[in-house]
Amino acid sequence: MSQQITFLARLAAVDTQLDELHDELGDLPAEVKALEQEVRDRTLAYEKTLQALKGLDEARGVANVTLAELSDKEQKLTQQQFQVKNNREFDAITHEVEHIKQQRSTHEEVLRTSGVKEENLRAILDQQQSELNAAASRLAEKEKELEHLSGDHNEELKKYLVARKSLLANIDDTLQTEYERIRTFHREAAVPLRRNSCSGCYSAIPSQRVMEMKYNREKIYTCENCGRILFPEDLTVDVDSVVEG
Ligand SMILES: [Zn+2]
Repeated sequence: MSQQITFLARLAAVDTQLDELHDELGDLPAEVKALEQEVRDRTLAYEKTLQALKGLDEARGVANVTLAELSDKEQKLTQQQFQVKNNREFDAITHEVEHIKQQRSTHEEVLRTSGVKEENLRAILDQQQSELNAAASRLAEKEKELEHLSGDHNEELKKYLVARKSLLANIDDTLQTEYERIRTFHREAAVPLRRNSCSGCYSAIPSQRVMEMKYNREKIYTCENCGRILFPEDLTVDVDSVVEG
C-alpha cells in the first residue's frame, strides 16, 4: 500500500505543473492587451499625421485660389492706372497694388514652404506606418500564441485537475488541510530532501531525522526552518505517469 507521503509527493508534482500552466497563461493575456493598446495608439498617431497632410493640402489649395484672385485684382488695377485723372488717384492705386503684392508674398510663402513640410510629414507617416505594421504583426503573433496555448492549456489543465482530484481522495483530510495551509506560504508545499537538506529553503536537516525519514515512511516530517513537508530523496515522482495512471 502506498504511503501518504507518496501521494503528497505526487500531489506536489501535479501542483507544480498546474502552477506552471497558470504562469504561462498569466503573462500572455496582459501582453496581448498591452499590444492592442500600442496598436491603437500608433493608429491614432498615424491618422493625426494623415490629417496634417490633408490640412497642408487644403492650405495649398486656398493659397492657389487666393493668389489667382489677387493676380486678377492686380491686373485690373494696373489697367485702371492708365485711366486715372490725377496724381492722387494714381497714388491710391499704387498703394493698393503694393498691398496686394504683400498679400501675395504671404501666400507664396505658404506654397514655398509647403513642399518641405509635406516631405517631413511624409517621412513621419512612413515611419509611423512601419511601426504600426510591426506592432500589428507582433499583436497577431501573440494572439495566435495565446489562442494556441489556451487550447492546449485547457487540455493539460483538465488532465492535471483530474489527477489532483484522485490524489486528494487518497490523502487524509488533516494532511490535506496542512498541505493547503503551507501552500499559502510556499508554492511548493512538499519538497524532497536533497543531500540532507530541505530543497525548499536549503537548510540542513539533522542526520538523525534523515535516518528516521528513510525508515519511517508512515510519518510526515516537515522542515523545521520553512515548514514545508519533506519527503525522502529516493521518492521520485514521474508526473506523466501520475497523470496517466
Ligand atoms: Zn525548509
